[in-house]
Amino acid sequence: MTAKRTDVIVPSLVYRLLHTMPANKPSLRRAGAHIQKGGHRLPAFAARLVQELTLFIYPPTCAGCGQPLHSDRSGPFCPGCLRTLELISEPYCPVCGVPYATEIPNAHLCGDCLAGIHYFDRARSTGSYRGALREVLHRFKYGGRTSLARPLAQMLTAPGKHLARLHKIDRIIPVPLHPKRLRQRGFNQASLLARRLGSALKISVDYASLQRSRWTEPQTGLSRRQRAANVKGAFSLKSNEKVKGKGILVVDDVLTTGETVNQCVRVLKKDGEAREVAVLTVARTVAE
Ligand SMILES: [Zn+2]
Ligand SMILES: [Zn+2]
Repeated sequence: MTAKRTDVIVPSLVYRLLHTMPANKPSLRRAGAHIQKGGHRLPAFAARLVQELTLFIYPPTCAGCGQPLHSDRSGPFCPGCLRTLELISEPYCPVCGVPYATEIPNAHLCGDCLAGIHYFDRARSTGSYRGALREVLHRFKYGGRTSLARPLAQMLTAPGKHLARLHKIDRIIPVPLHPKRLRQRGFNQASLLARRLGSALKISVDYASLQRSRWTEPQTGLSRRQRAANVKGAFSLKSNEKVKGKGILVVDDVLTTGETVNQCVRVLKKDGEAREVAVLTVARTVAE
């Protein structure tokens, strides 16, 4: 059974997309729709001209601050926001990826990993959950800017490739949302990222095996202990058929204390008998 796109509620997405279109230029909106519909009939130079004109009138905007990207159309960040990105690089804990403030030989595990609190084999995040990256993730998740899945998933490609090689990844599994949360939001941000990453890495995405079966209150503002108690037993497996003996990459947008993904991985390993499980997120909270 293919479970592709089951986590995306299409009508809500369409509503959100329409809602984010320029409201004061209905004629341009109609023109855009017309070009999209019949674009293949336009001569290449005319299509290019229309594209350039549209870019001139509506230059692409920075995913972080929303300012037009005059000089760099590739985006997703303007030079100002780009400077605020704190990409995570060595030195960091070789298991959970928590960055070290000072030079410590890379082989040293962090306190959490020494205490063995994680079920995953390795976790990586591309940047700190601050500045422009925090802004863009907020716009993506709470502002309904689903088009940001593309640039954000691009940030996951290189570390995803690395983890896929290290752990012989067979499947990507996005952290599932509870059906009630999915109805509220209209989409699962982790699924949108996983779908793009899956096609970039040519690894199949499994949206169906893992489910969020118990409703949990948002984790914001909870202590680590409270977070752990809050998500305990929140996930379960529909079936372990696609998980047993496999290398799994769990994908999410943000890693905070890691309790949510930790519970996912616990289920995948204990109930699903996954061979290895790695975790990849766009951002992670980092202690000041
Ligand atoms: Zn910006
Ligand atoms: Zn660690």
